This record gives sequence, structure tokens and C-alpha cells, in this order.
Amino acid sequence: MSTSGRPPYDDANIFARILRGEIPCDRVAEDAHALAFHDINPQAPVHVLVIPKGRYVSSADFHATAPDAAIAGFWRMVAAVAKSQGLEEAGYRVLSNMGPDAGQEVPHFHVHIFGGRRLGRMIA
Ligand code: C5P
Repeated sequence: MSTSGRPPYDDANIFARILRGEIPCDRVAEDAHALAFHDINPQAPVHVLVIPKGRYVSSADFHATAPDAAIAGFWRMVAAVAKSQGLEEAGYRVLSNMGPDAGQEVPHFHVHIFGGRRLGRMIA
């Protein structure tokens, strides 16, 4: 934790670099609050990541400190992406890994949207 009470944010993390346009991504949607792009290593026929445009390390960090408009905008994009990918009727899964025990690889808050096939039970 930093003195601000927030976990330190690494500006060199890969999603920060994608947001700055330093690394390309296969963009699905973008607005003032968030960016959605296809995962480079898809685990389902549809596997999209949605990331907020802010310096948030984890789900806890984002939801505790982001402005309400950013939180609402983020979740609206999650729903809009699922719809645009044709997942609304059959359903889909939204998942966020937080911290080492969950295997979070990139320390910039993001959710995964999985769909396009019958998904297995949750992995523990
Ligand atoms: O939730 P977690 O941090 O483990 O997931 C990170 C995800 O970011 C992985 O699914 C990985 O394939 C994806 N990724 C990506 N583009 C990159 C680097 C990682 O889609 N350039």
C-alpha cells in the first residue's frame, strides 16, 4: 500500500501500455471510461477483456476509489460488449482475477468475458 492507501500502480504494466497506444490490441469497443479488446490467448470462442481507463490495480481498488460514473460506464461496456458479441441470449461469464491466489497476471483491473460455447463449472 502507498501512503494514499491505494496499492501502487505500475505504469509499465501491459494494459497501461495498451491504453497509451504503445502496444496494439484487437479493439472491440472504447469510450471515455473503458477499453474492450480480444484476449490474445482466448480460452473460449469469445474471450474479451474490458479494462477501465484509470490507474486501478485490482477489483477492490477500482470499486473503492473510481468515480461512480467510471464504475457505471465500465459495467455498461461489459454488458454492451456481451451483446455486440452475440452472447446475450445464450449467456456468458464475467470473471476478474484479483491478486496472487487468483493468478492475476496483469496488475491493471480487468474483467474477462467468456462465451460462445457451453462453459464448464467454475474453476477453484
Ligand atoms: O486475469 P489475468 O491477469 O490472469 O489475465 C490477463 C489476461 O491478459 C490473459 O488472459 C492474457 O492472455 C491477456 N493478455 C492480452 N494481451 C496482452 C497480454 C495479456 O490479452 N498483450
